[in-house]
Amino acid sequence: MDVFEKARILGNSGKYDSCGPKACQVDVEKGIGGIYHAKAEHKTCRIFKTLMTNTCSFDCKYCSNSAGCKKKPATFKQEELAKFFNYLNHKLDIDGLFLSSGVPGDPDIMTEKMISTVRLVRNKYNFRGYVHFKVLPGTSYELVKQAAEFSNRMSVNIEAPNSSVLSEFSSTKDFKNDILKRQKWISQLGLGSGQATQMIINHMSTDKDVLKMMNWEYGELKLKRMYFSAFRPVKGTPFENEKAESHTRESHLYNVDFLVRRYNYKFKEFNEVLNDDMLPREDPKLALAKLTFDGPVDINEASYDELIRIPGIGPRTAQRILAGEKIRKYEDLHKLGGWVERAKPFIEVDGKRQTNLIEF
Ligand code: SF4
Repeated sequence: MDVFEKARILGNSGKYDSCGPKACQVDVEKGIGGIYHAKAEHKTCRIFKTLMTNTCSFDCKYCSNSAGCKKKPATFKQEELAKFFNYLNHKLDIDGLFLSSGVPGDPDIMTEKMISTVRLVRNKYNFRGYVHFKVLPGTSYELVKQAAEFSNRMSVNIEAPNSSVLSEFSSTKDFKNDILKRQKWISQLGLGSGQATQMIINHMSTDKDVLKMMNWEYGELKLKRMYFSAFRPVKGTPFENEKAESHTRESHLYNVDFLVRRYNYKFKEFNEVLNDDMLPREDPKLALAKLTFDGPVDINEASYDELIRIPGIGPRTAQRILAGEKIRKYEDLHKLGGWVERAKPFIEVDGKRQTNLIEF
């Protein structure tokens, strides 16, 4: 099998790892899979995301690489992958590598191969750009530490919000030992771009479960990013007949994540709007504002924290309002980047406000 065929198979196998809410895969020259646009170190990178091998002894029921699933096996050799990435970097302007793998047996054996690949990428091919290293479940501390020397960001996929949901996904992964313990180690290594993780969202977990785990991950592990993957059944896997999860649910979880990371909301605030432990089917910021605003806020008197809680007003608009002239009409808010129709029910502009506050 030639290297392009391997890149197609292993790049496509790696697509279930999210690296952004709308990570976008683009096929490039010769049909190589696994090229993504992703935010890395404050800029958009084109990242080659691939597995070393698609053979795996774990039994994750959603994954087409799991033991027992039929597939065309493919495995990169270390030098082969490092050289191929060098080609992508120089010929196709690919400026990042996201390296993951199936785990055919002892995770340390495959992790050593991944480390030696990244070492070649760094030392032989002098690549100084972004490397995201996926830590395989069960990898030893010594190897996690070695991998960190060559990586900007590392991650272990948490997959589920707790051990009980994970046990529905896999009988071979141990939530506390294989995942949380390894995440803790990574958090102590002081990586430049920190650590990320990914969770699969499906009917087995509630949003309350997910928010609780996010709170723990951001608080205890100083996680940089939590990515979500709305479950999609994959043909040939034990979960092929499970119901797909809606992208709306995934996007509302991303909304909450964004509000906490950028707007200083607290996860526990969203408990207020949960219904049967699920977020409402509308923008979480709007849902929370409807529940918590006592009446319209005078936009010219509001503090920064009050402004960013108004639907339709984000941090940049809030800063512009505080730095600028008095807002005398809705048009002025529009010019500063505010979404007037969304904000109207919650604001008072120069003594005037929308008459019916209930009509959101
Ligand atoms: S560990 Fe699980 S999710 Fe990862 S490749 Fe193996 S079967 Fe798939």
